Amino acid sequence: MYSLDFMSTVADSMGSGMRSRLIYIVPILLLCAPAPRGQAPTRLALVGGMLLTGYEVPPVHHAAIVIEGNKIVQAGPASEVTIPAGTPIVDTSGRTMLPGLIEAHGHLIVLGHGNYDTWFTWLKAHGGDAMLMRVMETSARQLLMAGVTTEIDLGAPLQPILTIRDRIKKGEVIGARVFASGPWISRGASGAMQDGFGGINITSPDEAAQQVERLAAAGVDQIKAHAGLTLEDYRAIVAAAHKHQLRVHAHVYSEADVRHAFDAGVDVLQHVGSAGTAPPYSQDLIRDIVNAGRPVVITAAHRSWLYPDTARFPERLQDPELKKQFPTDIYAEVQDSLKNWPALGYFQRTDREMLYRERGVKQFVEAAAVIGMGTDSGTPMNFHSEALWREIKVHVDMGMTPQRAIAAATRVNAQIIGKGRELGTIEPGKLADIIVVKGNPLFDIVALSDVQIVVKDGKVFKGGS
Ligand SMILES: [Zn+2]
Ligand SMILES: [Zn+2]
Repeated sequence: MYSLDFMSTVADSMGSGMRSRLIYIVPILLLCAPAPRGQAPTRLALVGGMLLTGYEVPPVHHAAIVIEGNKIVQAGPASEVTIPAGTPIVDTSGRTMLPGLIEAHGHLIVLGHGNYDTWFTWLKAHGGDAMLMRVMETSARQLLMAGVTTEIDLGAPLQPILTIRDRIKKGEVIGARVFASGPWISRGASGAMQDGFGGINITSPDEAAQQVERLAAAGVDQIKAHAGLTLEDYRAIVAAAHKHQLRVHAHVYSEADVRHAFDAGVDVLQHVGSAGTAPPYSQDLIRDIVNAGRPVVITAAHRSWLYPDTARFPERLQDPELKKQFPTDIYAEVQDSLKNWPALGYFQRTDREMLYRERGVKQFVEAAAVIGMGTDSGTPMNFHSEALWREIKVHVDMGMTPQRAIAAATRVNAQIIGKGRELGTIEPGKLADIIVVKGNPLFDIVALSDVQIVVKDGKVFKGGS
């Protein structure tokens, strides 16, 4: 212990230049350091790299973050941060530290398979709920390893998704923190997707409200209002959900659906401006959304960028890094489903979507709407391991600054899900969800694809040694 105590005391009393050299030595010494004794809280410091806090302010260079338990207690220039003696140090120098990413629209029950019909049939034939649990474990881990420390799950059968959420919370499963909606509420929906995701069909606003009550009693974290709903349905859903402090996310594409969801007070408008909404929305609708500060999550990339990107580089489907993150049997089934991916039903309207994709995103970016970042992660070819950085890149390509896009995926996402007090920024008092990426994502946003260290709730899950 003498060496660690000595080193950090010396480091504290010295200039930051000297300290940054010491940081290279400390991790090696750590290997022989005994575990912390007594009742002292578990501490950890991340030291040396550039810090993006999640706010749209200039980065902090050569920064340090101190964690106690699962909370951040200090963050700033290393020269101004006091690292308590004996604190284990993770060297982040030469890299960038930023808040853990938040996926504002994911689905753990799918992980890139090409066809819902055959996917849900395969699940049933290969263990049913037991296989579904393995799939969700795989998805949650893939997200976490990609730097996604929190996932807003917007559609899954109720008990399985609550079970995996709670198992991750208890530390039984390594994965992103999950906020689950359970099944979505829809009208007149049918087919493999509706059945597999456990979608609930209602026939009246009263029934919609009853279903919200049922989901609230079961312990969901938010409500997803899916397709086919009327203005009165949305009103009933919002009223029932808000009674339980649950936010409502609406799955909406057409101008009429977006208008109804907006007028009824839905909290987050999901999918707007994506997937072939042609032509782009009226100026009235955009103006009302922007002036109300109502958040939108576009889910832009998953068809209209993913399809042409895959056409240019189909090799991405067999990325060895991707393969490593799958159990063999699930990987084989996903690969089999993607053999003739251009023919998949999921992409049959992509030509139209591609025609409108830029206008779809730019109408919100240029109007300075409150934009969160979500991807429909898990949908065909939209792997959890890369969905979010791809979505962020699309927003940057469509005119968002990299810093604003990162803020959207962290601070703004935390706010729009109602967790702004705990998540989304690196500052004292917040949960210690921190990732470290190679290089400078403000220079090249694709740096977000190279996540080298992941800390969630104050614990290191990837890298860091
Ligand atoms: Zn949706
Ligand atoms: Zn979805």
